[in-house]
Amino acid sequence: MTAAPQDQWRLLDVQAHDTRLAQIAHRRRTLPELAEIERVDGRLKLVADDLVAARTVASDIERELKKAEADVEQVRQRAARDQARLDSGQGTSKDLTALQHEIASLAERQSVLEDVELEVMERLEAAQVRIAEVEAEQERLSTELAGFTAARDAAFAELDAEAQRESADRVNAAAGVPADLLALYEKIREQVGGAGAAKLHQRRCEGCRLELNNSEIGRFRSAPDTEVLRCEECRRILVRTADSGL
Ligand SMILES: [Zn+2]
Repeated sequence: MTAAPQDQWRLLDVQAHDTRLAQIAHRRRTLPELAEIERVDGRLKLVADDLVAARTVASDIERELKKAEADVEQVRQRAARDQARLDSGQGTSKDLTALQHEIASLAERQSVLEDVELEVMERLEAAQVRIAEVEAEQERLSTELAGFTAARDAAFAELDAEAQRESADRVNAAAGVPADLLALYEKIREQVGGAGAAKLHQRRCEGCRLELNNSEIGRFRSAPDTEVLRCEECRRILVRTADSGL
């Protein structure tokens, strides 16, 4: 293929835009905020599990507390009934003595059950503190996530605007390149990724960074300046300039 040297140089403009577009895309993929969002999101999922577990523990203890309260209440009511019967003075003295014994043992029983109730209440309090701690952690992480998300979106908007300008400039640069040369460039770009052309600078292909060997130097030197050269190594179009070292 042949192309006027200035048309080949225009290809270098297109290549520069493509390189910058690839850099923008790379920055978009590797924004530090993306890793932070993933990290905080992972933590939030764990904290959500912790919260479910903490709430389950608390609701189990609440049930236990209701049972303990009911146990105390039952003993209290029975003692009150016994006391009323005792106060009424009805029944034999043997009955009344039995009632007195029962009231005493119910009082002991009530004291034991109240200790149990107190212990359950203490555990419930600790479980509620745990819920509050996990909720506070969830709140903190959510705020952190919102911050990183906003920073990511701002960075995306900036990069997208930059890419849009770069793409528009690329369209203008490509408009000046002959169709067959541009088609070749696009084909190579698809094959090698990134740019489809590279500057030949100081006998080095700027696409793959490899230096020309002696036979290539000889061949390129004798090639007319309208011949479209290709890098032997990366197959990109090699564009000669004043500082190609030939
Ligand atoms: Zn190369």
